[in-house]
Amino acid sequence: MPDTSSPFGGFAIDFGAAGDAAPLAAGAMATVPVTSAGGPFETSVLILGSGPAGLTAAIYAARAGLGPIVLAGYQPGGQLTITTDVENYPGFPDGIQGPELMLRFRQQAERFGTRVVDVEADRVDFSGRPFRAWAGGAEYRGQAVIVATGASALWLGLPSEERLRGHGVSACATCDGFFFRDKEVAVVGGGDTALEEALYLTRFASKVHLLHRRAEFRASRIMQARAESHPGIEIHRGVTVDEVLGEESVTGVRLRDVATGATSDLAVEGFFLAIGHRPNTAPFDGWLARDEKGYLVVDHETHSAIEGVFIAGDVHDHRYRQAITAAGDGCRAAIDAERWLEEHGVVEAATTTAR
Ligand code: NDP
Repeated sequence: MPDTSSPFGGFAIDFGAAGDAAPLAAGAMATVPVTSAGGPFETSVLILGSGPAGLTAAIYAARAGLGPIVLAGYQPGGQLTITTDVENYPGFPDGIQGPELMLRFRQQAERFGTRVVDVEADRVDFSGRPFRAWAGGAEYRGQAVIVATGASALWLGLPSEERLRGHGVSACATCDGFFFRDKEVAVVGGGDTALEEALYLTRFASKVHLLHRRAEFRASRIMQARAESHPGIEIHRGVTVDEVLGEESVTGVRLRDVATGATSDLAVEGFFLAIGHRPNTAPFDGWLARDEKGYLVVDHETHSAIEGVFIAGDVHDHRYRQAITAAGDGCRAAIDAERWLEEHGVVEAATTTAR
């Protein structure tokens, strides 16, 4: 299966030749080369995450002359890079592929001087300004930080699922669907993601089995109607997956009927997970509060409880979780960060976005 870690393949940004440039001045960052390899790399606005929230924040911050640095994370472009047709993002009446949409976000951010680095922040220190983050062995410093690290796909947690990952088990139909041409596959989940993946897989698979643990779907009605009426999809309601079968590669799944407890084996060669997401909050343990579901808590507007640290997108939003709402949140966070920097004398009022 293809390496999905960098769907933007070839777009990793090299910060240029090592040098001894002085720390960067706010407002001029887009044009000044970064210091020596390993950092610290300094910016007015450090953005963690490169989904719709992070890259929209970058577009706004860059256009305000703040020379943002984006640490793209382990999945540059975020969740949309592992989705297919996006039909509800305004401005694309014929729909657009998720990876292409995110590539456009990124190009737009870079056009105004954003520097995007394909590294994942593994640790932060938010004890004072400049705020600090470490990623890929380098240190990054921001006078303000926007946390937009999003959420990641969940797995069932079965040993057989783990063992056969990449050998027929996948959480990305877009990435791996091609490998299942004329084969039967199963998708587990009952939300929009599961139905979208099932529909996508009908392009390749001879048959798609949609496995859901309840009778009612969580997905939107339009997606339900499409899945239910699609001749290539067979829906199995009220079943859970006990085990993924197969030694070298997937040969089937063992299902359990939730009502009766009876088990049965279903022969498939591909098994796709689409059961939801977990917010990516690990680097912020001890710094930013989480709610009962594990999502970051926003204090007011996009401000966290730490002044100068802002939060945007799915890392705090488990209600809407849409590209458009995440993008809107990124915009808000950038404007909040810009005003906060202005109030603290880091940037001049002249650079700020019209209010
Ligand atoms: P959801 O949380 O909406 O759905 C997850 C599904 O997985 C639920 O049906 C849930 O079952 C099931 N599930 C969870 N854990 C397990 C488990 N351990 N075993 C079996 N089944 C399990 O996640 P999605 O990723 O589907 O969607 C997230 C958000 O993104 C939603 O708001 C959705 O609308 C949105 N979205 C929008 C799209 C679009 O508009 N184009 C495309 C994709 C997503 P149960 O229902 O029983 O809880």
